[in-house]
Amino acid sequence: MSIVEKFKTFLKKGVDVFFTDNRTTMIAVKRKTDGSYSVRLHNMFSEAGEDVIKAVSDYIEGKRRGSREIIRRFINDNFNKIKSLPLRQNIRPAARLYTAGRFFDLKEIFDKLNKEYFNGVMAIKITWGRGSYNSRRYIRFGSYTEKDDIIRIHPILDRQFIPDFFIESIVYHEMLHKLVKTRVENGRRRVHTPEFKEMEKRFRDYEKAKEWEKENIKRLLNIRT
Ligand SMILES: [Zn+2]
Repeated sequence: MSIVEKFKTFLKKGVDVFFTDNRTTMIAVKRKTDGSYSVRLHNMFSEAGEDVIKAVSDYIEGKRRGSREIIRRFINDNFNKIKSLPLRQNIRPAARLYTAGRFFDLKEIFDKLNKEYFNGVMAIKITWGRGSYNSRRYIRFGSYTEKDDIIRIHPILDRQFIPDFFIESIVYHEMLHKLVKTRVENGRRRVHTPEFKEMEKRFRDYEKAKEWEKENIKRLLNIRT
């Protein structure tokens, strides 16, 4: 039985169901003029069991009392999964990925960190960037672009004198950007939230990497790419 058919067994009025990848709105219900419903559900609901579909049906019909809690629990249980899985919106024509550098293979680093810290469930594209962010005063070592689900690492880090733990700390940091939600405060988007910073410190060589950066930043800034 399709999910729409399942809904029809619970709802007296007709229903159209659409699945989305929207990360902020898990359920949106609209009542149409003919009394039927148009419902947008996050993809996670496509695999919901009977009890959850019943609860969503109640919710749609305005019986929110018992249903709200069942739905909330279902969303919480599934939310961790959706944050780390590749979502449909991310499947788009592949950007060219360059992972093999002269000294470091980003794919190898990514896979190692994925196994060590994320149970191997992280799926993000990674590539060497084009190195367009350095001035004499500042380098952005890495970036994560949510829209394309891609991590870019500055090619300045593909040097023999760069220790493994340092480049790993950069890749780990960018991986966290996929995992940790950004927060909007006073209309501003905060990416390095307290939660983010706390998770960042779980990296085994966190302190060592910070120290190394302090000691070597001048040398890095003097490299011309
Ligand atoms: Zn960051």
